[in-house]
Amino acid sequence: LSAGLAHEIRNPLAAIKIFVQLLPRKISTPVFLDKFQVTVPRELNRINDLIESLLELARPPKLEFKMTSLPDCLTQVVDLYRDKLDAGNIILKIDADGRLPKLWADREHLLRAFSNLIINATEAMPTGGTLEVSARAEEDGVLIQFADTGVGIDEVTRENIFNPFFSTKDTGTGLGLAMTHKIVEEHNGDIDVVSTPGAGTTFSLRLPGIQE
Ligand code: ADP
Ligand code: MG
Repeated sequence: LSAGLAHEIRNPLAAIKIFVQLLPRKISTPVFLDKFQVTVPRELNRINDLIESLLELARPPKLEFKMTSLPDCLTQVVDLYRDKLDAGNIILKIDADGRLPKLWADREHLLRAFSNLIINATEAMPTGGTLEVSARAEEDGVLIQFADTGVGIDEVTRENIFNPFFSTKDTGTGLGLAMTHKIVEEHNGDIDVVSTPGAGTTFSLRLPGIQE
């Protein structure tokens, strides 16, 4: 874990260092200044995001569990990303069972877990596609699925996706799925993935429901 972390922090630091070193010589070069203003804040943000995610992963599990409506959570999270999905030519389908049990959940954390899956699905469909979010009641709880028609995940990659800092993306932190996995476990649930490279990926979450 620390090797991955060192690597993730060193890359943006190296970029910042180069720009800062060049600054005295190039201070009156407009092209350089433009690049400076784009790159340095971006790389600083990267380090900042990384630290926030790390703190999140390292935080002791202090969740605030309440009776939580799953359809409300799904509506809220999907509304957050609707514009982004539209802009990316991604068709969103939602299919939620009429009668879903309530969940004993920390709403904020659950939203974060769902968000990570939606963001990944979006990134897996750079030229558009379909994202289907579904929820249905199962024997002791609910099955929630996020199915995309994106690039898919090959078997070797599949082995690593839940590991912190594992990413196949140039600017990925590799912390999204590690965090989602942790949150699902804290809710006594489990998460699974089925994927066909070139065709798409489905993440399935099972969470226990409250018996009424
Ligand atoms: P990041 O998104 O920063 O790369 P994540 O932990 O969110 O980190 O995901 C880890 C890796 O899992 C991604 O780099 C990608 O290779 C793979 N992955 C996750 N979700 C999907 C998806 N929906 N489709 C294809 N690959 C995915
Ligand atoms: Mg991600």
